[in-house]
Amino acid sequence: MKLIILDRDGVINHDSDEFIKSPDEWVPIPGSLEAIARLNQAGYRVVVATNQSGIARGLFNIVTLNAIHQKLHTAAQQAGADIDAIFFCPHSADDHCDCRKPKPGMLQDIAARFDVNLKGVPTVGDSLRDLQSGFMVGCVPYLVLTGKGESTRSKGGLPPGTTIHADLAAVVDHLLKSTADAAA
Ligand SMILES: [Mg+2]
Ligand SMILES: [Zn+2]
Repeated sequence: MKLIILDRDGVINHDSDEFIKSPDEWVPIPGSLEAIARLNQAGYRVVVATNQSGIARGLFNIVTLNAIHQKLHTAAQQAGADIDAIFFCPHSADDHCDCRKPKPGMLQDIAARFDVNLKGVPTVGDSLRDLQSGFMVGCVPYLVLTGKGESTRSKGGLPPGTTIHADLAAVVDHLLKSTADAAA
């Protein structure tokens, strides 16, 4: 089974410093859903892992988060894409949970749910903590320059093996080309 793990805000949809607090504020980055469809066609199962501390901060509740994710799933389906599951951490840093990235808890939950080893599984994020969380469990980190990506790149300190791409569509171009090269 081929698996890929994506961050949500700044990777699939435009990020906001004010948080994505409602379905209306959830707006896909052009080409991201089509890129997920191409992954599906190439046999990838696509899972999202997202920190949503806006819940702990009281900015929105779980019902609203579900509505946002319903919009995500519907938009994905309209683009011919299928997202298998969305794992989220509702905590703030003060909660000291095991799931908030850069901790690897969400990714370990994904490994358990899909019964896979995460070694070599691509993980895509726009923040350092996405890449650190993936690196800790053996994922291959991909930084995108959408969302907070430009700022993440300039701060540096990326995990070893991180490659940098313009956006999710460019990551998918790269992954599918690597697969085609390997098959040739
Ligand atoms: Mg992000
Ligand atoms: Zn958590």
